[in-house]
Amino acid sequence: MTSSSSPVPAPNLGGYGKARAYNGYRSYQYLVAGDDYRVFELAAELDRVPSAAVSTSADQEARVRSLLAGGPVISLHDHPSVMPTNIDELFEYRRHGRDATGYLGLSRSGLDAIFDNLADGEGQITSLCGWKWDDTLVDLGMRLCDFAHQDFITVIRRFEDFEAARARGQLGVVLAIESAAPIENELDRLDILYGFGIRSIGVTYSEANLLGSGLSEPTDGGLTTFGRRAVKRMNQLGILIDCSHAGDRTTLDVVEASSTPVSISHAGARSIWPTARMKPDDVIRACAESGGVIGIEAAPHTTLSRSDRRHSVDSYMAHFEYCAELVGIDHVAFGPDTLFGDHVGLHRVMSERFGAQLAEPPFPVDRVPWVEGLENPGETFPNIVRWLVVHGYSDNDIGQVIGGNVLRLVERAWSPSGGR
Ligand SMILES: [Zn+2]
Repeated sequence: MTSSSSPVPAPNLGGYGKARAYNGYRSYQYLVAGDDYRVFELAAELDRVPSAAVSTSADQEARVRSLLAGGPVISLHDHPSVMPTNIDELFEYRRHGRDATGYLGLSRSGLDAIFDNLADGEGQITSLCGWKWDDTLVDLGMRLCDFAHQDFITVIRRFEDFEAARARGQLGVVLAIESAAPIENELDRLDILYGFGIRSIGVTYSEANLLGSGLSEPTDGGLTTFGRRAVKRMNQLGILIDCSHAGDRTTLDVVEASSTPVSISHAGARSIWPTARMKPDDVIRACAESGGVIGIEAAPHTTLSRSDRRHSVDSYMAHFEYCAELVGIDHVAFGPDTLFGDHVGLHRVMSERFGAQLAEPPFPVDRVPWVEGLENPGETFPNIVRWLVVHGYSDNDIGQVIGGNVLRLVERAWSPSGGR
C-alpha cells in the first residue's frame, strides 16, 4: 500500500504502535542497585551512536510504518542484552551472571518477537571457557527471574503465544542457545532446557562438540552418532535446530537426520563473501529444501561482498537478495545478531582473550566502528523494511521475510508431527 496521507499517530510512535505493555521497567529494579548487586555502567539503548536511517520519501515512510505496525515482525537471531559502556569490563560483567535486557531499546524496535540467544559462550561464571551447563542455567534462570518482574516481555513457549503476546502489546522472546555443548553427553538435558523454555538450539558453536563439527574446524566429520540421537530428541521435544555455526557437512547431515525443518538463523552467502561463517549454495539449498529458513547476519564485518567491503545495510541486503534468488523468498528471513553496546569492541576483547574468533577475511576490509543502520536490535527491522520498500518489494513479500517465514518455520519445527 502506498499512501500520501500521514500515518495515524500510534501511542508509542517509536514502537510503531507496539510495546503498549512497556511501562519503563529496567532490569533488576526489584533490587537495590549497588546494595544487592554490583552496578556496571551500561551502554545507552537509544542513540548510542549517530546511526542514520535508510532514507525514504514521506510516502515510503508511511508504508514502512504501516508494514511494521501490521507485522508480525520477528528477529530470528539477536542478543538483546545491554553491554557495559566500557566493553573491557565484559568478562567481569558476565561473571556476575546478571545481564541486563534492553527493554527500552526493544520497545522502539517494531518487533513482535525476538529470538534471544542469551550470553552463550560468554556466560562465564564458573569457567572462562564458556558453554558450561551450570553457567547456561544461571544465565537462563537470572533472565527468567528478571522477565518475571515486568509485563512487557513474555516468554514464547507455544506457537499460539506469538499471537497472544502481540494482542497484549507485549514482545515475545524465544529463548535460544547457540550450541548444544552444555548438554555434554546427556540427552535428557535437552528435556531440561526445553522445560526452562529453550526453543532453538545450535548444533555446535564453531568448535566441534559431541554432536558434530563446527565451522572453524580444519575437517568436518559430520553429525556423530550422539548427534543423531540429539537431533531425534530435539525433534521429539519440538526444539528448532539451528545450524548457523555448524560445519558444512555437519549441517547437511542434520538436514537429512531431522524430521522437521531446520534453521540457519544468522549467516550469509559464501558465494558473495567467501568466509567459513557464510554458507555455500548447497547448504543453503538443503536448509530450504527441509522447509527451513536462513536468517541474514549483521554482526560487524560479517556480511560483506567482494564489491562492497564496507559493512552497511546495502552489503547486508546483498546477502538477502542472493539467498532469495537462490532458494526463493519464502526461505529467507533476518537474524541480525545485534546487541546494545559496542559490538566491534566486544569482538576485540574476545579475540584478545581467546585468539581470533573468525578467520581473517579473504580480502582487505574497510573496517567500521559500528554498522550504520544495523547497530542494535532497536533499529534493525525499521531499516530493513525501509530498504525493502525503497527497492520495490511488495507488501506481501516484505510481510513474509520480516516474520511470516519464521512463523511458518517454527510452527512445523515445534510440532512433533511437523514432519517434512
Ligand atoms: Zn552466532
